[in-house]
Parts: sequence; C-alpha cells; structure tokens
Amino acid sequence: MRIGILGGTFNPIHYGHLRSAEEVRKALMLDEIRFVPSALPPHKPQDDVASAADRLDMVRIALEGYPPYVCDPVEIERGGSSYTLDTLNELTSKKLDNDHMFFIIGADAFLELGTWYKPKDVLHAVNFAVTLRGNQKTSEYFQALLRVIQEIEPRYCMVEPMKEAELIDQKRVIKFIPITEVDISATRIRQCIKDSSSIEHLLPREVELFIIRRRLYGHSGNLS
Ligand code: ATP
Repeated sequence: MRIGILGGTFNPIHYGHLRSAEEVRKALMLDEIRFVPSALPPHKPQDDVASAADRLDMVRIALEGYPPYVCDPVEIERGGSSYTLDTLNELTSKKLDNDHMFFIIGADAFLELGTWYKPKDVLHAVNFAVTLRGNQKTSEYFQALLRVIQEIEPRYCMVEPMKEAELIDQKRVIKFIPITEVDISATRIRQCIKDSSSIEHLLPREVELFIIRRRLYGHSGNLS
C-alpha cells in the first residue's frame, strides 16, 4: 500500500485541501490518503478554532463516499500537543509501511520544518510530498526549501532539480509536486462567515450545512 498522510487543522476542511490531495494521489500513485486533523494546533491562535469533534466530523463528512480518502483521528484521540513525529511513530506502529508512506505538506508549511519538534527525526521517519503552488514553483523558492532541508540534514541531496531529493544511504525521498493553485484557505472561509458573505463552492455543501447547523465560526444559522 502506498499511503499519503495529510495533516492539518481543517478548521474547516475545504476544496483547497481536497484538490491538492487528489493531485498528489495521482502524481505518486497513492492507494490511500489519510487526513489527520490536529488536536491542539501548536502554531495557531486558539480562538476561532472549532472543537476537535466538530473538525473531525467535518473531515469525515467531506471524505464520505470516496474510498481512497480516510479520516484518521489518531492525533485527536491522543489529545494534547500534536507533534508530527509522535503521529508518524504511532501510524508506523500500526504496521503501516513507512517506506511507502508520504507526508503531504504545502511548501509554505514545509519552510517552517526547522521549528518543529525533532525535525531531523521527522525527515528520517517518512518520505515527504511537498506541494508547490503559484509562486512556489520558482527556482528561488525551491532554493529556500533546499536550504531548510540541508540545514536540518546535510545528507539530503537533489536527485532531480525541483523534483526529488534523496537521503544518502537511506530510502527516504522528498518529492516536490507542482499543483493547481486553488485560492481557498480556512482563514478566508471563517472571514466570509464573519462578514456574512457566502461560502458556497469553497467547500463541500454537506460541510457547509454542518457549519450552518452547528453555527460554527459565528454563523447565524440561516441558510444562504
Ligand atoms: P488556515 O487558513 O486556518 O491557516 P489552511 O486553509 O491553510 O488553514 P490547514 O489545515 O492549516 O489549512 O492546512 C493543512 C495543509 O493543507 C497544509 O499543508 C497546507 O499547506 C495545505 N493547504 C491549505 N490550503 C491549501 C490550498 N488551497 N491548496 C493546497 N494546499 C493547501
């Protein structure tokens, strides 16, 4: 099994997440993508974050009826701070094969890797699929990504420029995957709700109905 792991706050999940997951799935011929909502996002302000249970429900609703996508509550069930390394160790202890496992992450988030808990161990634990969109597809941006990698683990070297880096003597790879720019973020959706403007077509309709029903992010509860 070739598996992708897509972590995130999913506050809420939206078409940007779903479309990028699909493009990575195709590019890497993955059998499955596990969406892993974080328990307490360590780098985000805590207000305006829907409860773990609501975020989990929204992910489940969004993935329903599409077998390659699975919702994995591993971080939420563990609770507390969500360290990626703990999650990866837990997933591999469940006998998932980490040689065929890719941690999917946007290039902007990957640039912050040096600030994570034990980043070198993370780079050793699993393969990465780093998505590039818009101006992230330039060689300048790519050089910045490479600097981040080599500061953490100098034994990573490029196999194919702008496509793949490989850890010398080990099986780990980092794949760089250009994806279509989908200009949607959870921040934008929450802002639309605050401004009482429509969030239609930014996320699956069933998730939108859930937000309305539960009056999340200050939604009035009225159908638009
Ligand atoms: P927020 O706006 O609250 O910061 P977000 O929309 O960026 O949230 P996250 O849950 O923080 O969503 O993101 C999880 C992962 O999905 C990250 O790796 C992020 O880079 C990626 N991602 C988020 N939005 C998009 C998008 N529109 N296209 C591609 N990838 C995305």
